[in-house]
Amino acid sequence: MKILVINAGSSSLKYQLIDMDNESVMAKGLCERIGIDGSNLQHTNMASGKKVRIDSPMHSHADAIKLVVDALVDPGYGVIKNMSEIGAVGHRVVHGAEYFADSCLIDGKVKEALEMCTPLAPLHNPPNIIGIEACEKIMPGIKQAGVFDTAFHQTMPQKAFMYGLPYKCYEEKKIRKYGFHGTSHKYVSLEAAKMLGKKPEELKIITCHLGNGSSVTAVDGGKSVDTSMGFTPLDGTIMGTRTGSMDPAVVTFLMDEGLDSKRINVLMNKESGVYGISGISSDFRDLTQAADNGNERAALALDMFSYGVKKFIGAYAAAMGGVDAIVFTAGVGENDSRTRSAIVKGLEFMGIKIDEEKNKGRGCMDISAEDATVKTLVIPTNEELMIARETKKLVEG
Ligand code: AMP
Repeated sequence: MKILVINAGSSSLKYQLIDMDNESVMAKGLCERIGIDGSNLQHTNMASGKKVRIDSPMHSHADAIKLVVDALVDPGYGVIKNMSEIGAVGHRVVHGAEYFADSCLIDGKVKEALEMCTPLAPLHNPPNIIGIEACEKIMPGIKQAGVFDTAFHQTMPQKAFMYGLPYKCYEEKKIRKYGFHGTSHKYVSLEAAKMLGKKPEELKIITCHLGNGSSVTAVDGGKSVDTSMGFTPLDGTIMGTRTGSMDPAVVTFLMDEGLDSKRINVLMNKESGVYGISGISSDFRDLTQAADNGNERAALALDMFSYGVKKFIGAYAAAMGGVDAIVFTAGVGENDSRTRSAIVKGLEFMGIKIDEEKNKGRGCMDISAEDATVKTLVIPTNEELMIARETKKLVEG
């Protein structure tokens, strides 16, 4: 079965066509500037390596999907003969709130529930829903599935997901920890179990998705029992440009200083994190270089980041009553050996110790030292493949 994976943003749409017989990517691409002048599609045929750029007006996401399908079936650079070869479409959906504890096939009821999740993710869910409707229009009859960033974390116990606000804030306004990056945490925790030759049910794993956005999850017996992101993806570790956790009274203090909620939102989401601390960049490569050249604030930003992740590892080992494996994934987790090393340094007392030579490697790897009792693994994330796997499972019933 061939599955088309769609990740629709407000003015962009990423796609991959995956052949699930061997889980290989047949084609992938990106539509940019949907609804804006200069819209274009960049498409790659993975078998031939042929890349094309198609400049064509895309007034809507339906126009974008039409162009994607045209590219997939094109005799020159396409990968299938006709649209009917697409067995199903899997959509990334950011917020499933408490309605979706798992991926699901899309129908009228699901779409109603998706609309109800929108107030919790006003920037992300609407384009996801538009993407689904565009596919329904252009590919009628082809099954569609929604795979949610929040769903994996719906197994968290109430003691982990509640905030210390009056209970009615949860009951009436649904204010609670939801957690994000769930598809990635699920994927790497399942891959970790495979690498360790164990069943997910037998393992306590701490998955560290460290990228521009970062989150850490405690996965006990294959289920998320706690995670660092919260009501929104702003919570948890300090990130590329986001604050991570801080005393909420800072917000009211800033409001008293005259900043309104919009301004504070921008400050906390776009101007903070390692970027805000260093004043240079949100990219760890730039920060490492600057720190090596003596920039103290770049060094501080990196220190704050690794210290924050280290504390989550300690907290989640305590929450689970132990840990069998730490997994690093995403841009920083997969590529930045120095940050990995800084995070686990000092955790030897917990049995976490890495081999610095192995840590210099790339790709999927076990970087644990010989005498470590806790495994440290690097596993490249693959959210698209996870979405395709979930979609296939749903379609096959
Ligand atoms: P992501 O959000 O998962 O795509 O991660 C993007 C981030 O990963 C970038 O902003 C960089 O900070 C980081 N990154 C990517 N490649 C490297 C690398 N080779 N070394 C250090 N950091 C990297």
